Amino acid sequence: MSQLEKSSLTFQCETGNYHTFCPISCVAWLYQKIEDSFFLVIGTKTCGYFLQNSMGVMIFAEPRYAMAELEESDISAQLNDYEELKRLCLQIKNDRNPSVIVFIGTCTTEIIKMDLEGIAPKLEVEVGIPIVVARANGLDYAFTQGEDTVLASLIQRCPTEFIEKKEKTQTFFSNLNLFTKNKENLESEKNLKSLPLILFGSLPELIANQLQLELENQNIKIAGWLPTKTYLELPTIEEGYYVCGVNPFLSRTATNLIRRRKCKLISAPFPIGPDGTRAWIEKICSIFNIEPNGLEERENNIWKSLESYLPLVKGKSVFFMGDNLLELSLARFLIRCGMIVPEIGIPYLDKRYQEAEINLLEETCKKMNVPLPLIIEKPDNYAQLKRIEKYRPDLVITGMANANPLEARGINTKWSVEFTFAQIHGFTNARDILELVTRSLRRKNYVQSFCEKELVE
Ligand code: SF4
Repeated sequence: MSQLEKSSLTFQCETGNYHTFCPISCVAWLYQKIEDSFFLVIGTKTCGYFLQNSMGVMIFAEPRYAMAELEESDISAQLNDYEELKRLCLQIKNDRNPSVIVFIGTCTTEIIKMDLEGIAPKLEVEVGIPIVVARANGLDYAFTQGEDTVLASLIQRCPTEFIEKKEKTQTFFSNLNLFTKNKENLESEKNLKSLPLILFGSLPELIANQLQLELENQNIKIAGWLPTKTYLELPTIEEGYYVCGVNPFLSRTATNLIRRRKCKLISAPFPIGPDGTRAWIEKICSIFNIEPNGLEERENNIWKSLESYLPLVKGKSVFFMGDNLLELSLARFLIRCGMIVPEIGIPYLDKRYQEAEINLLEETCKKMNVPLPLIIEKPDNYAQLKRIEKYRPDLVITGMANANPLEARGINTKWSVEFTFAQIHGFTNARDILELVTRSLRRKNYVQSFCEKELVE
């Protein structure tokens, strides 16, 4: 409780001895998002085993990703990397004909210093398909940061100016459409300002559309989204454009947009939970001098719709062991729901990129009058388990490695990876977050009615 008196958050760094997914796992959701892409992971059998096991049933659905498994002779440089990759790319071209091939570098390609960035441009000309290189290896990154490395590499492929011909065709067709549109549509389109704003972060199409619609309700029409549904539709990014992230793990993408494309970053809390979504929209509105309309009422209505869940979580404590970088945003939302968070573990924290989220977390703690959480970057799972044993939180959000052992010791857990794959963004999906968080609490209530006994002595 000594944290209650502290006026600002405490940040610590531990040993980095923690469980998380390897960042190459990002291929699983990115190949689904970018429909004309193909991901080639260049690594060893270790990477292959990981992908095969972690992606579960997905591997039976002929996914658009594959492993280029390095052999002894590759590693000892007896084979020619260029020729080997060319053979694979031609095979991919024949079988799938994608619009882009993404090379995913792994720990092994880092250690043997395979020059993927040097090989790709030459191969691209020979094979006739764009090749993007992303180093999503386990040496440098954790889990969701894999997406960050891919998006950061895609930035250089975004066009810088409108293709005149395309624009002309569009104008011609939009002129034709004028005759068919009704008066109402015309009125609403007239009011929408298309602003130089690019949103970045990979979300399922449905969620991306929902967020876009929320902004359109405030008269903000975005100029593009990174990534897009297809590689061929990547948005135009000009110098001076505003950019805003939808996920907390995209700091490298944000840095590349600022440094390479001279964009202006809108630092806003992330649209997770009704409080975060409102703050995100408000911040974007404030940049464009737009008075937000009806947001307070919209947020209040969402909180009302969550009323059935709130008594289940109110006053309960939740401990984040940390493995996917969504922790700060989720903790802030759960504190707003009435929970207490003693510790937030996080693999990597870019304080500049997450500045607005950190501020909102601090404000929320003060508003809810709860102790400020301890934020641990690069946590040590062993030390965390000791702290969990001492604190005995009501819920631990953790990976599969620790979940069952903790459950057997009478501590409730929620598997953290589900937050990455569930739909948690925007106003309407706040219910899904609480559904996930309360599932094990509800189960515990149910099980307790049978047996109170712990299963491990
Ligand atoms: S941590 Fe390295 S070796 Fe392991 S799966 Fe990831 S890229 Fe491959």
